[in-house]
Amino acid sequence: MAQLAATDGMIADLLAQELQRQRQHLELIASENFASPAVMAAQGSVLTNKYAEGLPGKRYYGGCGVIDAIEQLAIDRAKELFQAQHANVQPHSGAQANQAVFLALLSPGDTILSMDLSHGGHLTHGSPVNLSGLWFRAVHYGVHPETHRLDYDQIRDLARQHRPKLIICGYSAYPRPIDFARFREIADEVGAYVLADMAHIAGLVAAGAHPSPIPHCHVVTTTTHKTLRGPRGGLILSNDPELGKKLDKAVFPGLQGGPLEHVIAAKAVAFGEALRPDFGTYIQQVVGNAQVLAEALQERGFAIISGGTENHLVLVDVRPAGLTGKAADALLGEINVTVNKNTIPFDPQSPFVTSGIRLGTPAMTTRGFREAEFTQVAQIIADRLYHPQDNSGRQRVAQLCGAFPLYRHLPQREPL
Ligand code: PLP
Repeated sequence: MAQLAATDGMIADLLAQELQRQRQHLELIASENFASPAVMAAQGSVLTNKYAEGLPGKRYYGGCGVIDAIEQLAIDRAKELFQAQHANVQPHSGAQANQAVFLALLSPGDTILSMDLSHGGHLTHGSPVNLSGLWFRAVHYGVHPETHRLDYDQIRDLARQHRPKLIICGYSAYPRPIDFARFREIADEVGAYVLADMAHIAGLVAAGAHPSPIPHCHVVTTTTHKTLRGPRGGLILSNDPELGKKLDKAVFPGLQGGPLEHVIAAKAVAFGEALRPDFGTYIQQVVGNAQVLAEALQERGFAIISGGTENHLVLVDVRPAGLTGKAADALLGEINVTVNKNTIPFDPQSPFVTSGIRLGTPAMTTRGFREAEFTQVAQIIADRLYHPQDNSGRQRVAQLCGAFPLYRHLPQREPL
């Protein structure tokens, strides 16, 4: 830090400001977390200096002996953690992991079947503004209008009608479990591949708090930075060795150049952390906290999409407070509660305005929040949204955050 400040005071100061923000705000974005100091140490290391195109033992650059050992550890730990036969730890992000799957399995013009973005799907699953929607014919399923849960009969009907080459499951804003075996059954009926994008629930899968897609799906992608609590990055898993070879080729040379070995080392550290029993305790708490949050908000009159949650996120319809998602997001931001506006199924508002907010418990659970704190979080949110003129939430947020310090090893100083 001192070296950075000496070389580039502007960046050092901005970094200090961001640290301050992370310390002082209630971080409720469902896709974010606080990586451990060990993960950050590996990522900010000399490994950023090394080119290592290829795979362990098969590189296009010299000097890769240590890098090979690091990447192999990351691969082995990922395989152990998720009980998978094949792992590629090189994708720079979740989006690139998905692109690699498309490159390995599809040709331009092929049909994919995936969840509608506005029902909880992801941009990379066939949105018209994303490569996946521009290069492939995307057909979408949605959730059931009353239960807000996956409607497997609808998915099967669409699969039979459109004969997709790839069916995608795994979402960004779906609070209920996914029946991967059911997806495989449907895919087998129409001769499709199944991709499970478990980016959001990977930590739950690793800890056994959500059924694993690995035994059922041809290929599984994930990010490593959400519930898995690693560095920002992607990962591809499969139980089919032949498919594994195709996926490796799609990542490199198909899509990427040199792998980010400093990030891969940080992934290895995170997988090692997730293999320890205390990660299971953490994930149980993440899920328990989300349930408390959903129940407490429901008691205050908010409509919770699907009636509750069984994972790390809660999708809240904020219309009972007379607000849009955009307005709620802004009001909470003003008292240092960080959330994101989110469409709810069958949302009458545009994606830029929305009727909902998405809340997640992974980050604040990492800081040590349990049920009692998340009950307070729900009260702070409800008080603010029902009484927008009341700013007292800011003080309550400061007290809560102050009681659960973040990154004690980093400097305490205020930004310059
Ligand atoms: N897949 C899902 C389900 C996601 O929720 C996300 C990110 O939010 C991604 C893929 C993309 O990950 P990244 O932002 O690392 O590209």
